[in-house]
Amino acid sequence: MASPQRFRMLLAGRSVDARSGRTFTSENPYTGDDWAEVPDAGPEDVDAAVEAARAAFPGWSATTGFARAEALRRLGDLVLENADELARLEVNDSGKLHREMLGQVRALATWYHYYAGLAQTVEGRQIPVPNPDYLVYTRREPVGVVAAITPWNSPLLLMTWKLAPALAAGCTVVVKPSEHSPAATLAFAELLARAGLPPGVVNVVTGRSRALGEHLVAHPGVDKVAFTGSTATGRAVARAAAERLIPATLELGGKSPQLVFPDADLTSAANGLVAGVFAATGQSCMAGSRLLVHESVHDALVDLVAERASRIRLGDPLDAETEMGPVANRPQYDKIRRHLDTAAAEHATLVCGGVDEALGGYFVKPTVLSVSPGDTVFREEVFGPVLSVVPFADEEEAVALANDTPYGLAAGVWTTDVHRAHRVAARLRAGSVWINAYRAVAPSVPFGGFGDSGLGRENGVDSLGPYLEEKAVWTEL
Ligand code: NAD
Repeated sequence: MASPQRFRMLLAGRSVDARSGRTFTSENPYTGDDWAEVPDAGPEDVDAAVEAARAAFPGWSATTGFARAEALRRLGDLVLENADELARLEVNDSGKLHREMLGQVRALATWYHYYAGLAQTVEGRQIPVPNPDYLVYTRREPVGVVAAITPWNSPLLLMTWKLAPALAAGCTVVVKPSEHSPAATLAFAELLARAGLPPGVVNVVTGRSRALGEHLVAHPGVDKVAFTGSTATGRAVARAAAERLIPATLELGGKSPQLVFPDADLTSAANGLVAGVFAATGQSCMAGSRLLVHESVHDALVDLVAERASRIRLGDPLDAETEMGPVANRPQYDKIRRHLDTAAAEHATLVCGGVDEALGGYFVKPTVLSVSPGDTVFREEVFGPVLSVVPFADEEEAVALANDTPYGLAAGVWTTDVHRAHRVAARLRAGSVWINAYRAVAPSVPFGGFGDSGLGRENGVDSLGPYLEEKAVWTEL
């Protein structure tokens, strides 16, 4: 086995190790090798990162939106130039398909370019007041230092959704990626100086301990938190942010329903359902993991889905022929196995799939289960390649089943009846609803959740708002 690739953190524009000198390794879930060695930061490194971001804030916040747009445009170009390498690092850390990751990383350039445009639109208003002796206008100013905390499943994408608006608004940032997939974020950090971002504007810390994120959110030098991760951690982050009275944007878990009506095109629905839940080995917050299907087309659709799911080729995520890689890490693999055991104990019927003993490693086959609405696997986020199916009798029941969850991130509606499509979309409690489609995202479209799926929205023209304070200036004429 080759020795692990070394990565370093970015603090105040310098590439550094943890002050303690400690490192930890990251496992490639396909090969089982500890392929990356990264700094194992402690609270003192977080303090240094926040200090660096604070020191950089007066300078960066005083730049014009036009100057920040330049840097964001260059950063987008650099992401595009380095997409292959960045995608490869994410594959090594997470086991996701190289071609899937390459597409995702290339798309990130569009995000940086979009926010370059938005950076130039930050403006105040002149506001009329009853007393004509006053001129009143508003200024929109960056909130300050942002803590951007990301999960292991899509580190670069979910960092970009925070970093690009924060930079566009004039904030400085401390990024903390997950302990399970830190490498690509550290490689990305090396591009920042080349984009012309001054030292300290973006800092990246990595550590094995989950206490690192806790320390960052509690740090008095942090003015805002942008967090993506599980609902349980999101609650802890919200509590800590409330204690300090700082705003927090939270993108959390999901258990998204896909509703298939009797008039749907079943072939395209089956294709969309399979891609919607099994892409990224099901480890996607928006995975359409609950299939609600009208009883009259239930058997036909389940056959089509199972036939497609069983044909998915598992294997080496770097191989262009592979259609699904392994689960990203051991704890997640164990969690999925526990869910499958619980489903069996609760009398779910296995339509296809299960753990892949033949391939070894962390492989789980695309799994389809016929379940009851009360089953744990139908209610809790599995975050793996597991689709649970429940039939419904009419539209009323379909909507009730879809909304019977504390989550509300996303939903899919499959029907050829345009009236039904929009009627049902309006009744679903979900931040994104796709009609005869699934999983599409764009920098210009708001993304986020209802209920336990989070607070606030990322992406879209309004997404700079949470990174800005509004100040009213009164002048007596
Ligand atoms: P996680 O909540 O375990 O960890 C997320 C991040 O928070 C990690 O960097 C972790 O180190 C850090 N952290 C842990 N404890 C913390 C604390 N007390 N304070 C601050 N930070 C802390 O999540 P995960 O297992 O890495 O990711 C999977 C979860 O993320 C799933 O639930 C998934 O649905 C969710 N997710 C949501 C979205 C979305 O946009 N809604 C996108 C992707 C993933």
